[in-house]
Amino acid sequence: VAARMAYEQRLPAVAGARVPLGLKRKGLRVVVTGGAGFVGSHLVDRLLARGDSVIVVDNLFTGRKENVLHHAGNPNFEMIRHDVVEPILLEVDQIYHLACPASPVHYKHNPVKTIKTNVVGTLNMLGLAKRVGARFLLTSTSEVYGDPLQHPQVETYWGNVNPIGVRSCYDEGKRTAETLTMDYHRGANLEVRIARIFNTYGPRMCIDDGRVVSNFVAQALRKEPLTVYGDGKQTRSFQYVSDLVEGLMKLMEGEHVGPFNLGNPGEFTMLELAKVVQDTIDPNARIEFRPNTADDPHKRKPDISRAKELLGWEPKIPLHKGLPLMVQDFRDRIFGDRKPHSV
Ligand code: NAD
Ligand code: UDP
Ligand code: UDP
Repeated sequence: VAARMAYEQRLPAVAGARVPLGLKRKGLRVVVTGGAGFVGSHLVDRLLARGDSVIVVDNLFTGRKENVLHHAGNPNFEMIRHDVVEPILLEVDQIYHLACPASPVHYKHNPVKTIKTNVVGTLNMLGLAKRVGARFLLTSTSEVYGDPLQHPQVETYWGNVNPIGVRSCYDEGKRTAETLTMDYHRGANLEVRIARIFNTYGPRMCIDDGRVVSNFVAQALRKEPLTVYGDGKQTRSFQYVSDLVEGLMKLMEGEHVGPFNLGNPGEFTMLELAKVVQDTIDPNARIEFRPNTADDPHKRKPDISRAKELLGWEPKIPLHKGLPLMVQDFRDRIFGDRKPHSV
């Protein structure tokens, strides 16, 4: 409560009431780390549309300038190429902290860098939030539940994570990021929010990032076989990106710290997902089985009761509706037309 009061006392000044003449602002000043990535760029679209000033901080490891290029020339938009592992000084009101590779292929590529991004990067952004009194939102992940022994996963479940495996740089990195966030909240009176995001898909995903939805869609479009890892009976729950962005903004603007699961409870085996992709793109697409990766969680499905009750949020777009919206963007990028798509 004390943290919220301190934050709200500052807000009129930045929202326009007490700023010097000529410096009147309509919206908030918002930093989006990882804003050139898949989720971040859709969030940036929404924040700018709402009238906020947005600074994207991104080192372009997995993000692309094309994702935000349509905002070039907008005086409310700024992009800084910067690695969050290094400190940075900015004056802002809110920080959405998304910077971190999200695809297993990307985060395993340089695991030590992934941990540094999650731990040192998050520490720096929390230090920044503390210095300027900004509200801080962490995008954590369903991976904090590891290979879950509880199904579906509720926020009170502490998880089943291997601390020394090939996914640990991401899972344990995000767990530490959550710890840091709560310690700054308790210790430095910082206003924080934690989202635990479940598998999300949509336009602007990296085409060859190795995630299952992007793989299957690209494979079906290129007339290549769909690569199903293991027996294909493992499950995931797939959320369309606009639903996630809505949830993140509701969480940031709401009164609750969380953590909140943000995901679509619709659960699919990888074989069922392959079938949806066949139905959407190419009924003749073949399936090819490949060995699975180490420590792959067997099942995953969010319990979203808490977000429904406290944020008034739930996803609206089921897989069979969301997938076609992503296919057109992939088609354009694979076959030539490079324009970015919004949702
Ligand atoms: P993404 O890879 O498209 O975006 C991540 C962005 O962070 C990229 O633009 C990348 O260049 C940037 N980045 C990475 N390391 C950085 C660093 N050290 N400094 C500055 N920028 C850096 O991934 P996404 O799917 O958009 O994920 C965004 C966030 O949401 C991540 O934190 C991810 O862990 C979380 N998340 C995503 C999903 C999902 O299914 N998409 C699920 C759970 C959690
Ligand atoms: N930090 C930053 N920008 C700021 C303020 C802090 O990048 O505007 C970094 C700072 O370099 C430090 C981290 O955030 O590494 C944590 O800062 P904090 O002030 O909480 O801790 P301290 O500097 O006292 O260790
Ligand atoms: N997977 C698959 N084929 C692929 C890529 C992934 O069957 O081409 C499986 C993978 O083994 C996992 C699930 O799809 O069980 C989700 O993987 P992804 O990398 O998309 O995300 P994760 O939820 O594991 O972070």
